[in-house]
Amino acid sequence: MEVGSYFTHITNKTIPDISRSYQLNNQIEKLLTSTVTLSNVQNDSARRLMNIEVQNTLSDLNHIIFTNQTDEFLTKQIYVLAQELEELDVLVAKRISIEKLLAEKQSLFIEYVQSSFIFHELNEDNQAMLFDALLLASEIKQETRLHKLRRIETQITSKLDPVLEQLEEKSKHAEVFRTVKHRLLSEQGLLNLRIESLRIIGRAKGRGSFVRNLLADVARDLEYQATLSNDAIIQSSNSIARGTEKQTYYALAVGAICTVLALAIIYFIYRRIVVRLIQLKRQVDEATINQQTEIVVSGNDEIAWLAKAFSTYVKRVNEQESALLNMTLSDPLTGIPNRRAFEKYMDSTLAQARRHGWYLSVMLIDVDSFKPYNDHYGHPEGDACLRLVANQLSQSLGRNSDLCARYGGEEFVCILPSTDAEGAKYKAELLRQAVEDLAIEHDFSNVSAVVTVSIGVATFKLDAKSDVEKSVFLACADKKLYEAKEGGRNRCAYYSKLPEKE
Ligand code: GH3
Ligand code: MG
Ligand code: MG
Repeated sequence: MEVGSYFTHITNKTIPDISRSYQLNNQIEKLLTSTVTLSNVQNDSARRLMNIEVQNTLSDLNHIIFTNQTDEFLTKQIYVLAQELEELDVLVAKRISIEKLLAEKQSLFIEYVQSSFIFHELNEDNQAMLFDALLLASEIKQETRLHKLRRIETQITSKLDPVLEQLEEKSKHAEVFRTVKHRLLSEQGLLNLRIESLRIIGRAKGRGSFVRNLLADVARDLEYQATLSNDAIIQSSNSIARGTEKQTYYALAVGAICTVLALAIIYFIYRRIVVRLIQLKRQVDEATINQQTEIVVSGNDEIAWLAKAFSTYVKRVNEQESALLNMTLSDPLTGIPNRRAFEKYMDSTLAQARRHGWYLSVMLIDVDSFKPYNDHYGHPEGDACLRLVANQLSQSLGRNSDLCARYGGEEFVCILPSTDAEGAKYKAELLRQAVEDLAIEHDFSNVSAVVTVSIGVATFKLDAKSDVEKSVFLACADKKLYEAKEGGRNRCAYYSKLPEKE
């Protein structure tokens, strides 16, 4: 039986059964008490009252039996019980009426005997005889045993018959004794009435005990049924308990398996997905910061494909970034670094030079008489000339760390890290000569027949305490360039300064 149906069974069957059994037992007990009382009642009104109570109890019993379910055996027993109780009541009624009759007859008898003493002037023997008869009459009422009553009958006969034989048949005395004998021993006499009453009492007792036994049987039967019901509950409870225990074990086992499975799935997801996603994220971060292009995650699934896609994407972004950087840092006309590139490189070089205590030289280079060149050869020719000069200057710088940029218009700027005044002087002369060596025809220059440049050079030795800024370099170099122009052009002018001694 399942737990649900078990509780339904308890609610719908067992509890009503127990309650019914309890109510039935109560009514049976009540009936038993009523039966005992009914058997012993002494007057009619008490009997009627008891009978009403018995009938009420019986109807209650029937109600209980029929309300819940029909129990054929019990119904039959109650039916028999009702009939027996009815008969018991009849017998009790008879007993009461016969006892009443007996009492009446006895008192009449006593009255008669007493009047006989007075009116018939009996002699002493006869009076004694009458007195004995009176005693025996009172014994009749007390006596409950049949053989004793028979003995009393014999005693009465043996006492009265000799007296009657002696007396004259028609005398008043004989009449008295005959009447006494008749009232005591005739068919309707006290003795026979007493015997009849004893018979009825016996039958009533028998009926009463039969009813009591029947009631005891019904009670036992009910108790047996209650026990059966109880046993069934205990059995069901035990089987339910066993079933529940089994189900609990199953549930625990299934729970444990599910937990292990869940942990395994979590572990799998962690190893196969989370760890690799973290690895992918780290590589993407590194690629973004360090411009590293290789993003690899092992395996052949969506995450590995995603890594490859990221790799391609990062490569493209890097390419575009460097192209963009090139565009922003190079001069579109000449293709060499522009002024912005110069600014950036100058900042980092200046910091480095300060840190390491290096020399740093900066040159400002200006094409001489370029306006007339432009004016006479045309602007495109001027551009071509600028490209040639720019290219020549860039190639003439020997070191990788040197930088030549277009500063603006027909002016160029060079940064020479770790280059002292002497080195810078040498390099400036070399550049000037290199441009002249290009031998670009310039018929309208007031300096030379070819394109030339003038160069202003500034050299500083730096250390950690130096406060020489980029602007100072440029101002010094510009000043020297002006000097070179003033000095006749196609030449170099130099400025150099060592750190001040403390
Ligand atoms: P100086 O010897 O004193 O330097 O005389 P200059 O004529 O070179 O000096 P100026 O500053 O008067 O002339 C510079 C000229 O450079 C003016 C302009 O026509 C020319 N120029 C500047 N930028 C460009 C450019 O990008 N392309 C061309 N073709 N010409 C340029
Ligand atoms: Mg100029
Ligand atoms: Mg110029």
